[in-house]
Amino acid sequence: MRASSSSLSSLPPARKLLNWYSGHRRHLPWRVEPGEPADPYRVWLSEIMLQQTVVATVKPYYAKFLAAYPTVQELATASVEDVCALWAGLGYYARARNLHKCAVAVAELGGFPNRIEVLRTLPGIGPYTANAVGAIAFGQKVLPVDGNVERVAARLFAITAPLPGAKKTIAAAAARLMEDEDAQAAPGDFAQAMFDLGATVCVPKSPNCFICPWSTHCQAKATGLATTLPVKAKKAERPRRVGSVYVLLDRQDNVLLLRRPPRGLLGGMLVLPEVPPVKARWRHAGAVEHVFTHFALTLWVHAARVDVMPEEALRAPVGSAALPSVMRKALDAGCRALNHADNGKRSP
Ligand code: SF4
Repeated sequence: MRASSSSLSSLPPARKLLNWYSGHRRHLPWRVEPGEPADPYRVWLSEIMLQQTVVATVKPYYAKFLAAYPTVQELATASVEDVCALWAGLGYYARARNLHKCAVAVAELGGFPNRIEVLRTLPGIGPYTANAVGAIAFGQKVLPVDGNVERVAARLFAITAPLPGAKKTIAAAAARLMEDEDAQAAPGDFAQAMFDLGATVCVPKSPNCFICPWSTHCQAKATGLATTLPVKAKKAERPRRVGSVYVLLDRQDNVLLLRRPPRGLLGGMLVLPEVPPVKARWRHAGAVEHVFTHFALTLWVHAARVDVMPEEALRAPVGSAALPSVMRKALDAGCRALNHADNGKRSP
């Protein structure tokens, strides 16, 4: 690791970054103009959605949620099933359940707490999200360290120790950027400026150092290490699991569904059954692939059509069933196979 206490002593000036931010910031639906107070509900909602998910995917979900639940109180009074249905397709479903739990807790408190330690006690709020809400909505003098900030800090201070082991060292180096008075005067803008620098200039593969406001202060740039940092330890390959799902449609194109138990993978979400729910003429509909955080999944799809669904079965119209992405892929494969079979029957 190259960083030493002496190399950290000359901090890149926050003012340069803030000036760059006022001219080059990303205009995102959950943001306010620099210097304006942000709504903690919107900051929190967007930050939970952005965990493990890119901005372009989050935007339509953020709009849908805000339209359905304009305030945290309205989200708190919704049913968890409705919240999960609106979340369907965004992935990492524990976030949806925690989002609802957190909204209930915040509504009981009468609003979002402004202290980082209290924010951290709320469901689904870890150190990063607490700092993001604290800095952006309440002007707390903290820097949330996401992947973008981690990369920028590793490069600014030329920290060559590999991630994930170097996480704490990099976070400590990043936190020192908040020692600058200009950063302390505008912690929300500074945090978002760091996010934007990482997302648009100090990007993972080919950082655009020539347009970077900190290029003359960056140790990675000075030492030719920019493209190689941060170093990441090799990840073990994901194990592969194999399973089956059953797509059962009726003549009105309703699909039979089950609700997963609240905890665990896809917890609380509507899914396709993993065993045949009825005796029927099941057709093979191919396989779909999906990658979860800890494993890759191959799902063999079987499909059948019946005249009438079992009476007690949960069902939803094929086009509007609120399903996780992997189940939507499987349902589409099942529908294609059944349509193909139906068309085959109609051919002369
Ligand atoms: Fe990143 Fe290059 Fe700026 Fe350094 S000079 S912070 S490597 S974009």
